[in-house]
Amino acid sequence: MKRLLIISLLAISSILQLNAQEHPYMNCFAVIAGKDATTDGSVMLAHNEDDSGEQMLNIYNVPRNEAAGTNKYLWIEFPGMAVADAFLNEYGVAVASDACKSREERLDVTDGGVLYELRTTVAQKARSARHAVDLLKKLVEERGYKDSGRTYLVADSNEAWVFAVVRGRHWVAQRVPDDCVMAIPNYYSITEVNLADTANFKGSPDLVTYAIERGWYNPERDGKFSFRKAYSAPSTLNSDRNYIRHISALNLLTGKDYPIAEPASYPFAVKADRKIGLQDMIEILSSHGENVEQKVKSKAPQQHNGCICIDRTINASIFQLRNWLPTEIGALVWTTGGRPCCEAFIPWYSGMTASPQGFTRFATPQEAFEKHFSDAKEMRLNYPDAAAWKFVTFWEWLIEDYDGRIGDVKKRKEKLQQKLFKSQEAFERSLKPLYNADTKSITKPSELGEKLNGYTAKLYRKYLKSISVK
Ligand SMILES: [Zn+2]
Repeated sequence: MKRLLIISLLAISSILQLNAQEHPYMNCFAVIAGKDATTDGSVMLAHNEDDSGEQMLNIYNVPRNEAAGTNKYLWIEFPGMAVADAFLNEYGVAVASDACKSREERLDVTDGGVLYELRTTVAQKARSARHAVDLLKKLVEERGYKDSGRTYLVADSNEAWVFAVVRGRHWVAQRVPDDCVMAIPNYYSITEVNLADTANFKGSPDLVTYAIERGWYNPERDGKFSFRKAYSAPSTLNSDRNYIRHISALNLLTGKDYPIAEPASYPFAVKADRKIGLQDMIEILSSHGENVEQKVKSKAPQQHNGCICIDRTINASIFQLRNWLPTEIGALVWTTGGRPCCEAFIPWYSGMTASPQGFTRFATPQEAFEKHFSDAKEMRLNYPDAAAWKFVTFWEWLIEDYDGRIGDVKKRKEKLQQKLFKSQEAFERSLKPLYNADTKSITKPSELGEKLNGYTAKLYRKYLKSISVK
């Protein structure tokens, strides 16, 4: 009896501890476009990372490790954070995530459960988006998910999947239709589930029966099963911050109006009224909800609940994944050091081998990996030379007089962004002698690595100077 009491006290205290550490749930936003929905035929995964407090952006080029059997990958790192990092590996598999709080309170885990390992495993092992889903499934089923819930977004140059995980061992994944675009705030996006359709769904076989057993779904009362309705924490569905951002993005994609405050009714994915390009993605990620303004409580333009880009957005990334080029060139991520409304997106190719100066606080990614959680305090003080602080300082300067300064800042950054899009074409043309277009294999790997490294480094040399306010 005494032992049982101790065990249950331990269990309660670990749940309380977990709650205290919980990532704030009104954060992050993503848009995913299938390859037939984009202007260039790429799969696009666009994502805003929103977090509280001061965070330090690092981006590492992690080399392949033959002995460990791990891939080469780009690692967008925020030290100390278990659910903020994004990755792009040598197979062109990208992963990011959105917090989606679940209703589940039972903590069914083995060895403490999994969290950060989910994304690192995708980076290190996945050879396709579909393979990534299988890897996530395996980890969740074997060890259980220790946080409340989340949607992992995985994409390659052929397809994208969303993998929704619930505290414990329940999960479901759905393929994003090739001709559709989806927007994901911080509630589960998957609605109807058809596990018999294995080309488009995967998931726990007892998804529906478990929801019935827990009283989260009643077929007579609720009609058709909706994963979003059954498994989402009601607070996430009732959050105006969530549903306003969702209908804002859907409106930007389709031009249609969606009923306010009815998140259960919004579609999993939509057909946009045009093909979606990088510029469209930037506009959505940078949106302050201007298109749903009348529905939004008035607050500073960068802070109100309709803002997809908000004052705590610490990074925005657009993965552009193209299957007609060698992956080293075809898969890249356009990324910002801060809020997408005021910062340019700079390209990083998956074939790069070294990061520009200022993006790696340690000499080796290995050391960064080992100290990801243990060395994450006083980072501005301890690593003062990092590029990260230039983005932070720029933002601090901007909000001293946001209304007075944003106009010019926006104009300048939009001009630069257009220039960057244009130079992408010419730059990629210059890479043609370095690969065989038929086999999509690189013929001069070291030369290619150097060129890709040099390109991104040069862009940052100019860019960081342009946002310098001191
Ligand atoms: Zn903004």
